[in-house]
Amino acid sequence: MRVVIVSDIHSNLVALETVLAAAGSFDDLWCLGDTIGYGPRPNECVALVRQYASKALTGNHDLACLGKIDLRDFNPDARRANIWNGEQLSADNRAWLEQLAPALPVDDRFLLAHGSPREPVWEYLLSTEQAARNFQVFHQQVCFIGHSHVQLGFRVRDGYERCERFLADRQRVVELEDHSRFIINPGSVGQPRDQDPRAAYAILNTDAGTVTFARVEYDVRKTQRQMIEARLPGALVRRLEYGM
Ligand code: ZN
Repeated sequence: MRVVIVSDIHSNLVALETVLAAAGSFDDLWCLGDTIGYGPRPNECVALVRQYASKALTGNHDLACLGKIDLRDFNPDARRANIWNGEQLSADNRAWLEQLAPALPVDDRFLLAHGSPREPVWEYLLSTEQAARNFQVFHQQVCFIGHSHVQLGFRVRDGYERCERFLADRQRVVELEDHSRFIINPGSVGQPRDQDPRAAYAILNTDAGTVTFARVEYDVRKTQRQMIEARLPGALVRRLEYGM
């Protein structure tokens, strides 16, 4: 089975459409949350995720847009964009988003969590120390996470205590060897923050036992024009071209 794994789309429809086209044929889509917030096309992004994904999570921005967590936890630009995103949602898309959880086991092998297994809504899992603690709170071989908008992974090898971190630009294909365990972040579709403005995603091949990190250039200007039309904050518009 070929599964496209996406996270942090953030209402960037141009980026999401480009990713889905670049991914080729796939059997499923797993979405790790923050489908909306920040960007200009919340309903269209939710509709595409609903169309393709058998598994989807909610993230901190989704919850804020729905009025389920305090908007004061966000900086003023993110807050304004979240309010605007929430106002745009159709009743149907709102109801769909509202029933999503921030973490979801797929089966005995895979777990999905927006931020981290132990703190699915808020933890930015970036260090090996954090990863080591998180490996203790789930039993599956692989956990896919989002939230930090950084494409990376962590591995604990069989027989080793130590957890290692790998960045996607150094190791593009990850072999899911038996007896090793992994935490993998596909990066952000709609607002990458690793100084690379290209949309980020990953492909899981369950037959080959591999995860492949991928990047694709999309029409950033088009998303920026849509954001300007929607009067979204200028700093959010500009950051897309720098990937931060
Ligand atoms: Zn996010």
